[in-house]
Amino acid sequence: MKIQLASIEQLQNAITKARKDKPLVRVVSFGHYTVVNKNTGAAYDVFLGRDEEGKRASECNCKAGTPPSNAAGAMLWKPRLCYHVAAAAERHLQLAHEIYEAACEAEINVFDNVRYLAPAQQATEHTKHTQRAA
Ligand SMILES: [Zn+2]
Repeated sequence: MKIQLASIEQLQNAITKARKDKPLVRVVSFGHYTVVNKNTGAAYDVFLGRDEEGKRASECNCKAGTPPSNAAGAMLWKPRLCYHVAAAAERHLQLAHEIYEAACEAEINVFDNVRYLAPAQQATEHTKHTQRAA
């Protein structure tokens, strides 16, 4: 269930609680985290990504993020941004940074192993391709 951000206050409260409680955040995969309440041991799955319109979206299967329904099947409240999402988002950004840095490092290694063709060879390669195409 997609969480809509109701207000900046809601976001601030979620961040404040996440920083105070410091729940354990386990990385399942990039964009999927398990957030564990250290006191109760309760674990929730948080998903961070983009919705069908390309906007940032989040999901959490805790009660705030996935509200129960009444007898008529209507949700008791709109999915709220919880501190699990805030805690996961902090780890998500860290991970994105780590992946970015690893990619930059990998690129350097990739370029170290690139075989540069001399201009004459390039011309020969080009000719071969042209001849094959003709
Ligand atoms: Zn939650």
